[in-house]
Amino acid sequence: MWLVSFLHHPIPAIMKHAYITGANKGIGLEIARQLGHKGYHVFIGSRSETRGQLALRQLESDGIEASLSIIDVSVPDSIRKAFEALPSSCGQLDVLINNAGILHDRNRNIFDMPESLFAETIQTNALSALHTVRIFKSLLKQGSRVINISSGGGAITEGVSTWAPAYCISKTTMNAITLQLASALAGQEIPVNAVCPGWVRTDMGGNSASRSVSEGADTPVWLATEASAQLTGKFFRDRTEIPW
Ligand code: NAP
Repeated sequence: MWLVSFLHHPIPAIMKHAYITGANKGIGLEIARQLGHKGYHVFIGSRSETRGQLALRQLESDGIEASLSIIDVSVPDSIRKAFEALPSSCGQLDVLINNAGILHDRNRNIFDMPESLFAETIQTNALSALHTVRIFKSLLKQGSRVINISSGGGAITEGVSTWAPAYCISKTTMNAITLQLASALAGQEIPVNAVCPGWVRTDMGGNSASRSVSEGADTPVWLATEASAQLTGKFFRDRTEIPW
């Protein structure tokens, strides 16, 4: 199951490679589409084979070189299996985007939520990024870029957000992980940054959100491709640094 898409589509070694988690829909799928149009071979991470295949077909019908990678980011063993199933022709991941996320506690009270919801949210939204970078590390080389899709809900410098306590704590945690990874990978000249995509019309953001997926994907794609590689350990929205 893991290899089926790779076997059907051998990857030319000269292509740049991007791996995006949670790329079967929403902002992740749009990032994959935009990077695909810029000539990257995109690995679309999906925890569901069915939903992943649907996304893969959409990208391929758009002329994009893509492969499906089955990955549940909340389970380190699943991340390891996804890593082990990558084709040997992929000697480097030029871009790794930790995008998968959940929001299951909108408008919940911090005292009126099960402990399991905090654990699930922090595991999926934050620790997943740490584990994915640790497990994929041998494919991250000079010139690679790591981007963590965070949220303004995780910012704390100008006061905390309380509208979704577990989600906001998870994104603050992801920001801390971003700084740790940026520091740990600085010697290899691998930038690691966090991005708030803004409020985006997806299943998570809802129909009333102010931004299209194309607008939400813009800053992650800019960081993946055009931004100075000197920028690391920073938090961005709209291609501009914002306070943590
Ligand atoms: P979305 O449409 O709900 O998509 C979330 C993606 O993450 C889906 O592909 C989902 O897969 C995947 N996912 C969730 N849990 C996973 C797991 N354990 N393993 C692997 N994949 C998993 O949400 P979105 O709006 O595109 O959000 C993408 C990122 O942007 C998230 O990190 C989110 O926190 C962040 N963000 C979004 C907004 C917004 O307004 N939309 C604002 C700020 C930040 P399934 O289809 O299998 O569920």
